[in-house]
Amino acid sequence: MIPGYRDGDVVPVLVVGAGPVGVAAASMLARRGVRTLVVDRYPDLYPLPRAVHVDDEVARILQGIVGADTVTALTIPARGLRLLDARHRTMAEFRRDRPIGVHGHPQANMFDQPDLERLLRDRLAGVGQVTLAGGVELVALDQEQEGAPAPVRATLRRIADGTRQHIYAQAVLGCDGANSTVRDEIGARMLDLHFEERWLVVDVRTERDLDAWDGVHQVCDPRRAATFMRVAPGRYRWEFRLHEGEVPADLLQPGRLFGLLRPWTKDIPDEEFEVLRSAEYTFRARIADTWCDRRVFLLGDAAHLTPPFIGQGLCAGLRDAANLTWKLAGVLQGALDEVVLGTYESERAPHARAVVKKAVMLGRVMTGGQDGAALIRRVVLGGLCRVPGFTTRVLDAEFPRLTPGLLVAAGRWSLTGRLVPQPWVTVDGRRRRLDDVLGAGFSIVTLDVPGPSLQRAARRLGARIVRVVGAPGPAITPEHVVTAVDDDGVLTSWLRTRRAVAVVVRPDRVVLAQTTRRDGGVGLAADIEGWTWAIPPASRLAATTQAPVPTASGVTASGVTASGVTASGVTGPAGQTLGESASPARSILNGASL
Ligand SMILES: Cc1cc2nc3c(=O)[nH]c(=O)nc-3n(C[C@H](O)[C@H](O)[C@H](O)COP(=O)(O)OP(=O)(O)OC[C@H]3O[C@@H](n4cnc5c(N)ncnc54)[C@H](O)[C@@H]3O)c2cc1C
Repeated sequence: MIPGYRDGDVVPVLVVGAGPVGVAAASMLARRGVRTLVVDRYPDLYPLPRAVHVDDEVARILQGIVGADTVTALTIPARGLRLLDARHRTMAEFRRDRPIGVHGHPQANMFDQPDLERLLRDRLAGVGQVTLAGGVELVALDQEQEGAPAPVRATLRRIADGTRQHIYAQAVLGCDGANSTVRDEIGARMLDLHFEERWLVVDVRTERDLDAWDGVHQVCDPRRAATFMRVAPGRYRWEFRLHEGEVPADLLQPGRLFGLLRPWTKDIPDEEFEVLRSAEYTFRARIADTWCDRRVFLLGDAAHLTPPFIGQGLCAGLRDAANLTWKLAGVLQGALDEVVLGTYESERAPHARAVVKKAVMLGRVMTGGQDGAALIRRVVLGGLCRVPGFTTRVLDAEFPRLTPGLLVAAGRWSLTGRLVPQPWVTVDGRRRRLDDVLGAGFSIVTLDVPGPSLQRAARRLGARIVRVVGAPGPAITPEHVVTAVDDDGVLTSWLRTRRAVAVVVRPDRVVLAQTTRRDGGVGLAADIEGWTWAIPPASRLAATTQAPVPTASGVTASGVTASGVTASGVTGPAGQTLGESASPARSILNGASL
């Protein structure tokens, strides 16, 4: 039995898989007051070498979990990607030179995945809304049970002795990696995006300085494609493509391995290096044909697999978690309509697919072909690198603008569907990162003095209003509105690129709506009213907040009512708006406990 859980207990969310995506998702839910049970078939985290890079958007997501200073302490910035020919001459360079990107972090951040996973687990232990059970695997899911206390029944098995236990969940997140059981259980299939190569990955430690350019080195030699990078102080990563029939042991013999490392280690003696770990991986490109079935969702490698050429596999998984968790928390807490859950797949799948395809394309361009191809590559890349913008675009896996839909207002030439940048602003004399000012819920960023109607609409949405001013001055901002001085002018000029005066921002920092009128927010307030049908009326909220209450021992109180929304579904836009005194979305902002 899982400590604290009896057979048949109900949990708001069951997370299957305690890899980085599952643990991050559980943290995000806990931060919004949603209790989770996380199970993983292994007792501890996966120790072998994997992700080493996240971009600035994803560093920002991690900031929301562990804090910006911790992200900075965990990572080192990298300077971009250099393509080398077989003789290690530079063919092209894609630089990441800006010390801080628009999202408040360096554009490329290097780290060691086990360090990140350890940090995420430590944070999870501190949040108190989560039980993490190692050595427990999911074997089956059932969403067809009539009269069940919650929409999904999970059958779990303790690895040590094979005992089985049923847990009911309001929702299940399948974060169980490439060979996902959850994916099989909902009948989703992986679509092949046609890439498969075997690579050997080796992590090495040394006290000596390798004196190498501080970015990712990609050796574009079809005979032995290789990648090199510094991942942390004194720690380096090499990856070598394996030939057909070649086994890792061939390359790992000391004489052979150090021969391969020699272009970087030069005359430093082999004894100065310690091989920390090595593993063979088959890099594949795949995407699930379905990402959710009713209350069961796929995230991370369970939903998509990419070769790591642009370092985006984990990044995509963390973007999934950031997109889904605020919606799910809102629905479980009765603050949002079930229908918003349908936007998870429609918003995330196209981006994930585009990123996987880009990685495949770049992988082929960088390392594919025979000797003749290598020669052509050298000439073509030399030319392309002189095309303005080419070198900066190549590495971008930037969040694409979301198309208008349920949670993104229409507006062709507007900021809707885009991420808000994260500059520093000054609030009450203190320099702060924008996200820390916006908080965890909805927000309204405005250049205008918000009028009463906008303030009322913000209250209904549970949104914090942040008024952006150019310089400190006499307070002409209403109470309950935060005044942020845009010292560097970043926010003001970003708003002005689309003549926006104010924007409504979702908890995942995507712009939901904008106004170009300086009318105190009257128009924007009307837009918000138009959107609040997605927020159920207060009567339904009362029904849905009867969620399980953890007892002092952490044991779930049984007899929990299923959420007020039907398991199969979408209750649909009812056109309701809220009574003025109700503030159901407040729980999204304040993290009311489930
Ligand atoms: C060599 C290499 C380099 C990479 N480099 C990068 C990079 O630089 N940047 C980047 O963004 N990404 C990179 N990636 C990809 C990244 O490592 C993965 O995308 C990431 O680990 C996926 O996380 P996840 O939580 O989705 O899955 P996983 O980390 O695979 O975790 C899944 C978990 O689910 C558990 N599980 C599975 N089945 C069950 C079950 N039935 N019941 C219970 N538990 C179960 C497993 O034990 C596991 O702990 C790289 C990958 C490799 C291999």
